Amino acid sequence: MKYDVVIGLEVHVQIKTKSKMFCSCPASFGEEPNTSICPVCTGYPGVMPVPNYEAIKKTIIAGIMCGCEIPELSKFDRKSYFYPDMPKNYQITQYDLPFCQRGEIHIFGKGFSGNMMEEKYIHMTRIHLEEDVAKSVHFSTFSGIDYNRAGVPLMEIVSEPEISSADEAYAYLTTLKQIMQYAGISDCDMEKGQMRCDVNISLKPSGQIEFGTKIELKNLNSFRAIHRAINSEIERQQDILLSGGKLQQETRGWNDDRMTSYLMRVKESAHDYRYFPEPDLTPICFSKEDIENLKKELPELPEIKAKRFVSDYGLTEYDAAVITSEKNLADYFDDGAKKTSAPKILANWVISELLRELSNANISINEVKISSDDMAKLVNMISINTISGKIGKTVFAEMFETGKAPEEIVREKGLVQVSDEPEIESFVAKSIQENPMQVEQYKTGKTAVIQYFVGQVMKLSKGKANPQAVQKMLKSKLDA
Ligand SMILES: [Zn+2]
Repeated sequence: MKYDVVIGLEVHVQIKTKSKMFCSCPASFGEEPNTSICPVCTGYPGVMPVPNYEAIKKTIIAGIMCGCEIPELSKFDRKSYFYPDMPKNYQITQYDLPFCQRGEIHIFGKGFSGNMMEEKYIHMTRIHLEEDVAKSVHFSTFSGIDYNRAGVPLMEIVSEPEISSADEAYAYLTTLKQIMQYAGISDCDMEKGQMRCDVNISLKPSGQIEFGTKIELKNLNSFRAIHRAINSEIERQQDILLSGGKLQQETRGWNDDRMTSYLMRVKESAHDYRYFPEPDLTPICFSKEDIENLKKELPELPEIKAKRFVSDYGLTEYDAAVITSEKNLADYFDDGAKKTSAPKILANWVISELLRELSNANISINEVKISSDDMAKLVNMISINTISGKIGKTVFAEMFETGKAPEEIVREKGLVQVSDEPEIESFVAKSIQENPMQVEQYKTGKTAVIQYFVGQVMKLSKGKANPQAVQKMLKSKLDA
């Protein structure tokens, strides 16, 4: 029996704002517990919420960037439940009139496991805005609650159950993260809880329309963990179904160290959250004009930027995808590419040298000492043969270390490439004199041995000779 995999994702993204959703407490991370709190976000009776319009605006921008419809009328609702992390005993969220409806995310290219994926649009049901809950911390004999996070603006992004593999889920999430970062909506740092994801997953016999029993996966702390957890869950469900067993609707947690999931709870009947319109907040209206104005502020989507890099700078699709994977890296490259006549060479240097050094030093592109101007200058010097590519690497290493301009390093160390004939001639003569055996080989027709001489001359000149000029001169001497 073959099974189809059906996956839907619920993603929570913390919106980057100065203050919380309904009060003026700072929405910062890493403060001492219970220091960024006030009567509003700790649910004192009688307090009045005041909406944070920056958070609403960013939610709408997220929606527009994902191709959602933005209804003219939205409202907030109360979702009632009783839990220590929710001091009011209800959460302000959105029920039937969310800010954004029916969007889509375009996924394509290579999946996480390296296989090519089918190009696909994953539709989203909605994006709504709500307040985050507090954080429970468990100690050996008691539990504590930190309310700093309570009331921080949070978007919930719900996909349709259209994802059919771990690779597709990974692509959906990375694209979503990219969009949020590009639009300045969130940094989506999973370690800081700025992006959280629940996975709904079920299997059904191939071709069957009706969905199978849905299992929810929680406690997924990284995209890699999500990828692993989905594959492990597909296997677990398949094994049960193939051996004639039955699945029960349940919530499972994921232990990434052990690479296994565990039962958290069996789903009983659906919760009754008793949603009703938030009486302390008026509905929110957007005119068509408001939306049009917001559209003018939108940043270039990563996918569009990548296409522009291919058409304007002649990059391969793969290189463009690597460079646009992160907005700051794309901006860095874009700046530099405007200042060089060899943007393709710049792309190679960014992808091979710069990204490797960043990863070795464990720093981000924002922290790099080399300005995009200097990176472009280095590439220019290589492309017009002022220095060789090999010397370029030495210069680059020093630039990375010190932030010095490339022309300064080249001048200080006397690294300018030698194309000057008399100087090269002495190296060429020396290499011929020292290698009679290879000269003999050349004369008997093994002309490929010329590369050996080029190497010798490069060594003698400490990499400074211009290889094209060397090759030309060697040929004329050896043929003489
Ligand atoms: Zn507060």
